[in-house]
Amino acid sequence: MTDRANSTPETLVRRAVLREGVSRPLVTPLLQSAVYASPSIATLHAQYDGREQGYTYAREGHPNADLLAGKVDMLEGGQGGIITGSGMAAVTAVLMGLLSAGDHVLGGDQLYGRSLRLMHQDLNRFGIATSVADACDAAAFEAAIRPETKLILLEVVSNPTLRIADVEAIAALAKARGILLAVDNTFTTPRSFRPIDHGADIVIHSVTKLLAGHADVTLGYAVAQDAGHRKAIYDFAVTTGMTPSPYECWLAERGLYTFPLRYDRAEATARALADMLADLPAVKRVIYPGRDDHPDRARAERLLQGRDGNMLSFEVDGGEAAADRLVQAVPDLAFAPTLGDVATTLSHPASSSHRALTPEGRAALGISDGFFRVSVGIEEPEMLLRDFATAVAAV
Ligand SMILES: *Cc1c(COP(=O)(O)O)cnc(C)c1O
Repeated sequence: MTDRANSTPETLVRRAVLREGVSRPLVTPLLQSAVYASPSIATLHAQYDGREQGYTYAREGHPNADLLAGKVDMLEGGQGGIITGSGMAAVTAVLMGLLSAGDHVLGGDQLYGRSLRLMHQDLNRFGIATSVADACDAAAFEAAIRPETKLILLEVVSNPTLRIADVEAIAALAKARGILLAVDNTFTTPRSFRPIDHGADIVIHSVTKLLAGHADVTLGYAVAQDAGHRKAIYDFAVTTGMTPSPYECWLAERGLYTFPLRYDRAEATARALADMLADLPAVKRVIYPGRDDHPDRARAERLLQGRDGNMLSFEVDGGEAAADRLVQAVPDLAFAPTLGDVATTLSHPASSSHRALTPEGRAALGISDGFFRVSVGIEEPEMLLRDFATAVAAV
């Protein structure tokens, strides 16, 4: 509230202080300010020394990011996590904040495409050696460890073939050798799997996906168990400007209120959809961690404890032409290479995430031209199952 004198043209740029009165806003305020003012030099010293809590500059932190980070910390069982401007910013902050020239990082061979690209195209330029191994095969992982291996990067459920990594065995290997274990928990979310409970030192998220849940923000999250690692990740992220915008954090925090409801609903529908697709003659195979015919079923049961998630994949015959008929049969089913939205999305790895591979390279992973990945949303289940039956009938 400004008085009349304060609103004359001469003083228009004087910053007003918003007064809330005795009541408070029900909804999280969006604090879009890029800069924070301190009352005195002594206070600013106290802020920088950590004796007083107070924000200074939004690249270094702001309330909407901290509120969101605190909620993801709670879900993951971590503390002091940070929010970054995208999931890839979080992956980058972890790898570049913790590794130095001469170190080696070992990844799962079916990591998110950009994570693989960061390892192979970028880290190598800075003298960090990288390699990958089959995360379902602990012996292969053990054989790939080098004396200079400093960090292992895993995803629990691989994209798009939904194989389950042998997280327990690899965590034991890492622990025995003093190697850091970082888990990108985007697909599984803490509702299905909490990496820290299974020995992970670092947890990473693309908040863009299931946590924010509405396909309207790109954000990431990283947390480390060790305070020194947390500081190294934070400092790298702040120095390189991986800052999230307050508005996006505000949207993601809003999305998070319904995360458990969305996840549970999508998971139940995914299970029903997987079973329905498996019964269709035109469907060659269905991959869902909750089905008995999943190649890693026993491990899925042990790690996910029945929380098999909202992601499934399936394959039809007939090559790209048949796949394209499926895509076009039901325009309401969004054909989009993302996941975790409230609405179901259908993606075709051969023409998107895995298009850079040769057909032989894709075949080695089991990705044909008729292979689809589905991120199941929260629509009316009966309607969704009908839509998929219509789409598959077009093949
Ligand atoms: C999407 C995704 C990322 C990257 O996240 P962005 O928010 O798109 O940068 C990283 N890892 C996994 C598993 C993802 O699905």
